Amino acid sequence: MSEASMCKKILLSGQAGFRVHYCESHRTIELELGAMSLRLDEDALLLMRDALDSSVTKLEALHATRGSFRAFMRQLNMPD
Ligand SMILES: [Zn+2]
Repeated sequence: MSEASMCKKILLSGQAGFRVHYCESHRTIELELGAMSLRLDEDALLLMRDALDSSVTKLEALHATRGSFRAFMRQLNMPD
């Protein structure tokens, strides 16, 4: 094995149950989620970030809409 094939990992994020390492040798990102691990290239990580960001934003908007809809319905049902 050449030196180029040896991993040189940096911990980018170390939350319990979710770790992110970067391998400088191979320019890969390694996600560890519980017992599952996933290796990505840097472009895929950026794609994943954008997809997760927009998913969280839409989910929050959905919850906010549902919340205000329920409040509106409660007001309609309120006796005078
Ligand atoms: Zn590596």
